[in-house]
Amino acid sequence: MTADVGFLRDLVLAPGPSGFEQPVQQVVRERVASRADPETDVLGNVTATINPGATPQIVVAGHADQIGLQVTWVDDQGFVYFDKIGSVDPLLLPGRAVVIHASRGVVEGVVGKRPTHLIADADRGKAADISEQWIDIGATDRAAALARIACGDPVTFGPHFVEFAGGIVAGCALDDRCGVYVAVRALEIYADAPGSAALTLLSTVQEESRYMGAHVQARRGQPDCMIVVDADFATDQPEVEPRRVGGTLVLGGGPGLARGGCSNPRLFALFEEVAASAGIPVQIKATPGDTQTDSEYLQTAGAGTAALNLGLPMRYMHSPHEVAQLDDLEAAARLVAAVARRLGEVFEPGVFIPRA
Ligand SMILES: [Zn+2]
Repeated sequence: MTADVGFLRDLVLAPGPSGFEQPVQQVVRERVASRADPETDVLGNVTATINPGATPQIVVAGHADQIGLQVTWVDDQGFVYFDKIGSVDPLLLPGRAVVIHASRGVVEGVVGKRPTHLIADADRGKAADISEQWIDIGATDRAAALARIACGDPVTFGPHFVEFAGGIVAGCALDDRCGVYVAVRALEIYADAPGSAALTLLSTVQEESRYMGAHVQARRGQPDCMIVVDADFATDQPEVEPRRVGGTLVLGGGPGLARGGCSNPRLFALFEEVAASAGIPVQIKATPGDTQTDSEYLQTAGAGTAALNLGLPMRYMHSPHEVAQLDDLEAAARLVAAVARRLGEVFEPGVFIPRA
């Protein structure tokens, strides 16, 4: 099964900072429409189900949103000030190409900075506070800027997606368009050879800001299990030590299966068994605490739902150029589809209740 790099590119290049995800969700809706009826809720979460009404109900989720910036104010000279959406490293911003998504269309800009020649030694290497950084859009004054943009417009890093050698890709927003890709591909693989279970794709919103899409979905019903696919720290890069991030996770080694409170132990065991029998590579990640993903919230659905956190190996998370491996995404999608088929065979009420 070869990866659909064009689909991942479409997902990555569609802008979607938290709260402004609909361009991404439109890519998802159009992609799944030939196989299932996509639905959009009032927050903007998108769902689509194969075998609606069947038992068990399995949900596979990725988050559509990305980190970004938002215009807050324009000064008399036409420089554009901003705040962050989600966890943005202020050190990354100076000198960076950005795109303001204004109501009349896209406005390109750059984050300005003091020339290096003029930086005092004592200030070198320090990030200016976000509120002290600005975007230059080439406006001559405040009125000229406000003719093109408005307070509240979302901002993203300049769109970027490239395919390196060997299926390794780099781009902005791979966290978590890769997870959305996996969820959609899992739905497609399952639709082409379905089992008896219902499999629902869930593309959530606002994960990077307040997990609000997941909060709302958790109140929408009680599926039998939730599989949450998100980026996880790859350890095959300098300065990310396996002992500090729950173990080794390398590009090309397959998705990480999180072991800990975020993953139901019996669902975890089923994933391991299905991966082994299908010859799909997986890596085990110790996850003692908060995963900082939607899984904490999705597993509170109804009276509690069995969740499994699937971590995609990713380098340089929350930078404008994240790096991932296509084989890991396809492996994750095939694994989710295979688990869904297997659950259609072995599911019975109470199957996920932990036992000694
Ligand atoms: Zn993420």
